[in-house]
Amino acid sequence: MNISHLNVCTFMKHHILTAFLMLNAAFAATAQTSDYKLGQAATAFNAIDDMLQTYRPATEIPLPRELALVSLDQLLHDTDNDATEPFYAFINTRMRRVLEDLDRPVAKGLRIYKLYNDGFIVKSPKATIAIDLIPGGSDAKPFITDSVVYGIAGKCDALFISHFHADHANLNVAKSFAARGKLVIAPKDLWVGVDPLIRPLEKENQEFDVEFEELDLTLHVLPGHQGDVYNNINVVEFHNEGTVAQTGDQWGTADLVWIDRVHEKYDIDVLMPNCWVNDMKRTIQGFGPRLIITGHENELGEHSIDHREAYWMTVRKMEKMEDLNIPYVLMTWGEWYDYQK
Ligand SMILES: [Zn+2]
Ligand SMILES: [Zn+2]
Repeated sequence: MNISHLNVCTFMKHHILTAFLMLNAAFAATAQTSDYKLGQAATAFNAIDDMLQTYRPATEIPLPRELALVSLDQLLHDTDNDATEPFYAFINTRMRRVLEDLDRPVAKGLRIYKLYNDGFIVKSPKATIAIDLIPGGSDAKPFITDSVVYGIAGKCDALFISHFHADHANLNVAKSFAARGKLVIAPKDLWVGVDPLIRPLEKENQEFDVEFEELDLTLHVLPGHQGDVYNNINVVEFHNEGTVAQTGDQWGTADLVWIDRVHEKYDIDVLMPNCWVNDMKRTIQGFGPRLIITGHENELGEHSIDHREAYWMTVRKMEKMEDLNIPYVLMTWGEWYDYQK
């Protein structure tokens, strides 16, 4: 080994060592940044939860509540927060609250709970119906834990599903309902033969009724579409208490022709439209509800960020509906609103 070779080796060792130290420092910095951001997210999620508990859903959104919802938009549009502990803690706390509150009876009218994505639970004095309830997340790590889903299923009477897409229909949820002895009304041809209590509809793409005498309600299925996919708009008539309409993933221009006339046949109290329905104003006018509660905001799925449908976008959209003079309530996951005629 000559001197120049030794020098080169020393030179290289020095640089390898420097590179190694820099890499370590970068990892440490990343870990610190990640810890820092997790801590920040946990603090923000907690503050938002507190704020939303203080400023409950109402037809007017006070500024602190709007700020909480917009802050939630920001956290949920930062993919660094996806599948992190602060996020799970936030959504699970709110879902457990729904589970507890479902024990509280409804004396008159309807209590409407909003769950993840387009999921709703509507409770009358005599019946509790879930629509498009899904856990979200992956099967291995759902947003709503299996035990909470099982608990919710035990406190509901039935589950109705608009269409087969995974952000509306989940077999594990359906099986939980069946395991608790509860009925699941699935779209035609979905989950055929899985369980006697999971009942795919015999018809699709047409209007028809299903009577539930023991629950004192009628399900009116309206033939909506999401593009080429059949999408049942579930109109649930709780006799003497109120009628709700959940639109699933309604997006079909041709349907607007019959949607224009829904109010002539049905007396809709509460319309729960997907926040990105293709013609919000015409849809509202067609159903002619007394109250609007939008769904489907902040779906943390495979959509690009601009399609996570922020709450602030719903606020802006609904500001354009003010001339219709129909109150609307903007809710997030794990909130509820009491409606009476
Ligand atoms: Zn869909
Ligand atoms: Zn959807």
